[in-house]
Amino acid sequence: MTQSDATPLPDKYRALRAEKTDSGVQVSLQTLPLSALPDGDVTVQVTHSSLNYKDGLAVSGRPGVLRSYPMTPGIDLAGTVLEDRTGRWQPGQGVILTGWGIGERQDGGYATLARAHADWLVAQPPGTDARWAMSVGTAGFTAMLAVMALEEHGVTPGDGEVLVTGAAGGVGSTAVALLAAAGHTVVASTGRAQEEAYLLGLGASRVIGREELTALNRPLEKERWAGVVDSVGGATLAGAYASTRTHGALAVCGLAGGSDLNASVFPLILRGVNLLGIDSVTCPAPRREAAWNRLARDLGAGKLAAVTQERALSDVPTLAGEILAGQVRGRTVIDVT
Ligand code: NDP
Repeated sequence: MTQSDATPLPDKYRALRAEKTDSGVQVSLQTLPLSALPDGDVTVQVTHSSLNYKDGLAVSGRPGVLRSYPMTPGIDLAGTVLEDRTGRWQPGQGVILTGWGIGERQDGGYATLARAHADWLVAQPPGTDARWAMSVGTAGFTAMLAVMALEEHGVTPGDGEVLVTGAAGGVGSTAVALLAAAGHTVVASTGRAQEEAYLLGLGASRVIGREELTALNRPLEKERWAGVVDSVGGATLAGAYASTRTHGALAVCGLAGGSDLNASVFPLILRGVNLLGIDSVTCPAPRREAAWNRLARDLGAGKLAAVTQERALSDVPTLAGEILAGQVRGRTVIDVT
């Protein structure tokens, strides 16, 4: 399809807008003129977005995520290209956008239209669709980056148990499924005992309670984990770190349980343990593409179906409170249309 065949841009679009008022941050569905979109080379018709912990913070008006107002939250989006002034993307092409500050510094995915820089976008992997992409979303993409980081630091199937913390959440659920698909023996840590069957169904070989990790509060604990994917931080991460095996590695993704890390250097200098930081927002383009292609290979739509619920854009304010309260299981796709 050439640019001249492209569907003309609509003159209005619908967005969930966050505005700062005297009584705090207010969020409402609004119809906006095309001129309200930010600058950018590519205009995308968004069909799906997703709900992440960060979106919960933004939509609930918590400080630190939205950098200016008014703003359209939503750190993920998927849809089709309507127009690309650089010519790199063709009208009608399926694209995915996560991170790069959308839904934080620039309008994000909770809208029927979005603008982006051409090099922020990733092509929809063959055989997948926008709904699948958003059932993965930033959470699944981050889990993939975490698994890749562990592998690059020598964590190999057969080495021993790999721990996933915050396992029933978005990053955690996807990490359990990806590690199991790669042949690892996965231990899932959760505060929700009722999610045991769900986690075993995703491929965990056993499930432990949160308190088993927070109780590990000595500088060096018995060696347990060949690798760790942590989305919780705080005392959970400290316990996991103190009990990681010699030359094991921890991929540190999140702070759902706290941003502190009260720990010693002993695991680093006496066991050669590697603490690996994961930042999905600024992940360079080639690594993004590699991660999305592997997600398409290892975590097709069938595998994610059990992890995913689909909800409407108008449900996002309610869902935001639920994800902050740790009540959302797995991934939530937002149907933006
Ligand atoms: P979810 O809310 O879906 O999952 C977080 C999980 O953490 C919960 O399901 C719960 O798991 C556990 N948890 C929540 N509160 C506590 C607590 N007080 N103590 C211990 N465990 C708790 O969020 P996401 O999976 O979307 O994100 C997880 C974290 O990763 C967030 O901090 C997020 O900001 C971060 N993140 C970082 C990214 C990066 O690029 N580094 C990208 C994406 C997310 P359970 O019920 O199983 O115990």
